[in-house]
Amino acid sequence: MAVKRMIKYEVERDPQFAGWVAGVIGGERVRNCIQCGLCSASCPLSPYMDYTPRRLIHMAREGFKRDVLGSFTIWLCTSCYSCTVECPRRIRVTDVMYALKRRAIEDGVYPKRFPIPVLASEFGAMIRRKGRVTESWLILRVFLKTAIIRLLGMSKLGSKLFFSGRMGLVPESIRDRKQLQTLLDAVETHKEVAA
Ligand code: SF4
Ligand code: SF4
Repeated sequence: MAVKRMIKYEVERDPQFAGWVAGVIGGERVRNCIQCGLCSASCPLSPYMDYTPRRLIHMAREGFKRDVLGSFTIWLCTSCYSCTVECPRRIRVTDVMYALKRRAIEDGVYPKRFPIPVLASEFGAMIRRKGRVTESWLILRVFLKTAIIRLLGMSKLGSKLFFSGRMGLVPESIRDRKQLQTLLDAVETHKEVAA
């Protein structure tokens, strides 16, 4: 993926978003970033990202919300923590990446046909509904939203897995879904109060 180079303008900034970034877990010291680039240099995925970790941190702390949340970078991050270990200003870059992923899903602004955010979003929604993940339905939903043609090409493999008992079609669920939902609602409320 080619690294994006572009001129950014003050009018594109969202100061509220910048404040939010500085308040997330791991982002407390984001304003101390000296743009040394050690995070980008140590990141194994950096060559494939549209914004290197150094640029992403800079854009996030300045409030370029749309570019940051719509970027491929946050979804290519594999959470290896190399950037966090190397950062001389003790900025927890990986944790900021996690927060940005969550925010992108909440705001629905992730790259639409890119499978990783769709998978994360569907996974979370399935856990919320059922308390368990049924892989066959998860895969089906992700392919329907990202690569429907490829899904047709995988029908042979799917039926093999099904007939060999490796893939069930009955949606799995925990017994007390209501209790789980109460728990998740409480976590959400706590997050809102903390924010
Ligand atoms: S390593 Fe830390 S200080 Fe250096 S650019 Fe990355 S986030 Fe900023
Ligand atoms: S945690 Fe993510 S951003 Fe940091 S070095 Fe690893 S892949 Fe790159």
